[in-house]
Amino acid sequence: MANKRHQILVIGGGTGGVMVAAQLKRARGGLDIAIIEPSETHAYQPAWTLVGSGLMDLDSTIKPEKRLIPSGVSWIKERVEDIDPDKNAVKLESGDTVEYEYLIVAAGIQMNLDGIEGLKESLGTHGVCSNYVDPEYTWEVIRNFKGGNALFTQPSTPIKCPGAPQKIMYLMGDYIKSKNIEEYTNLIFATPGTVIFGVQPFRDELERYLIKYHVKQRYGYKLVKIDGENREAYYERLELPNGGDRYVVNDERNAAGCMGFVWEDGARHVVQETNSPFHAEKKGTQYVIKYDLLHLAPPQSAPTWFQKTKLANPDGVNQGWMGVDKHSMQSKYYSNVFGVGDITDLPTARTGAAIRKQAPVVVNNITRLMDGKEADCKNYKGYSSCPLVVSHNKMLLAEFGYDGARMSDPILSKFFNTGHASYPMWILKRYGLPFMYWNMMLKGYNF
Ligand SMILES: Cc1cc2nc3c(=O)[nH]c(=O)nc-3n(C[C@H](O)[C@H](O)[C@H](O)COP(=O)(O)OP(=O)(O)OC[C@H]3O[C@@H](n4cnc5c(N)ncnc54)[C@H](O)[C@@H]3O)c2cc1C
Repeated sequence: MANKRHQILVIGGGTGGVMVAAQLKRARGGLDIAIIEPSETHAYQPAWTLVGSGLMDLDSTIKPEKRLIPSGVSWIKERVEDIDPDKNAVKLESGDTVEYEYLIVAAGIQMNLDGIEGLKESLGTHGVCSNYVDPEYTWEVIRNFKGGNALFTQPSTPIKCPGAPQKIMYLMGDYIKSKNIEEYTNLIFATPGTVIFGVQPFRDELERYLIKYHVKQRYGYKLVKIDGENREAYYERLELPNGGDRYVVNDERNAAGCMGFVWEDGARHVVQETNSPFHAEKKGTQYVIKYDLLHLAPPQSAPTWFQKTKLANPDGVNQGWMGVDKHSMQSKYYSNVFGVGDITDLPTARTGAAIRKQAPVVVNNITRLMDGKEADCKNYKGYSSCPLVVSHNKMLLAEFGYDGARMSDPILSKFFNTGHASYPMWILKRYGLPFMYWNMMLKGYNF
């Protein structure tokens, strides 16, 4: 059993791990840093939405990990099995241990395909696809779609990029318009949530596109089972805040025969269960929606091995996620440990954009500790952003912080109305953000 030791150890060489290591190296060139990362490749996941809609190739989103490990940083190509923060040591699957003075955990999020009955068996077949797992299959299913029900859904667990399950729906809406099969298609969005997007003015802008694409929305729907053979999705209904149903049709054609009642805003069709082709049929306590295409985000959690460590919240709503101070990124339990990215329990959307603002705070606090000061840089205010692509040439950039407060990039918002879907914003998504990711963020530039 070999023992190694590094001044700073980073678990995970994804977005957060590489970004923090690169910034640390820029801050102090002489630091002894190692990244533990088992994967040979690194993906720019935000582009998978575009891969799933045929607007980008998967290959162009992936680079060899060895080209991204910052110069002067050691790469331990292994998988972590356990962390013993009392001994400042990390155990690898090979049985080796690595000791540290400072630890940064950036091990990301885990997809739990066992979390929904029938998901593991049906994903990748029978029209069940996910940009979170195989965006190329999503595009295969979309381009072979001939009409029917296209169901878009998401789990009740936290997920990374919570906007991604709806982005692909808008892109499909745009695609079927171009193929003239709009008339034969029902786009359905079924979510355990209560609104399409929590922050204004983005919600209003997205509602324009929900209307444009005639999206039928079902709120308070929790996916519990997929019957791949019969192409049926089973849902449990969650109680909505007003105790009622929220079902928005947005479609004159299909709403005509519906029994309707207005629940919220009188401008829309808000109707009860009907026998329309896209209705949810009650079977026992569950509701079944038939689909021809089903796109979903799998249930997600912190990695199983991590949940057993002393760095995970032992209980409460954030049980299993890494407990960190929401402003300083420092572990709630160990002062020489920091977390970054999807694995943390921060009450904001898990995105790469959030990590861009978290990384400098981690770097600042670790260097402060090294200088014998307190880790009292508390600059992270929950910033996250979601580039909501609504067509093949339009995007709006939802930027927000803790408690859903809108937080706009000062430079960008000087030139563009980022809350309005536009072509310049699309150029940013397609070309600007990937360029910034590979050439600036992963190279340790703090901007
Ligand atoms: C479809 C999709 C669309 C998205 N769209 C956007 C978007 O538009 N904008 C945006 O900002 N974000 C978006 N995201 C989210 C963004 O990609 C993630 O939030 C971000 O990559 C998280 O970074 P991370 O470092 O926390 O995790 P990751 O980048 O996933 O890295 C975690 C790393 O840890 C490694 N690891 C795991 N277990 C171990 C172990 N036991 N030992 C060692 N290493 C381990 C993994 O191999 C991985 O490399 C999207 C994601 C998806 C899937």
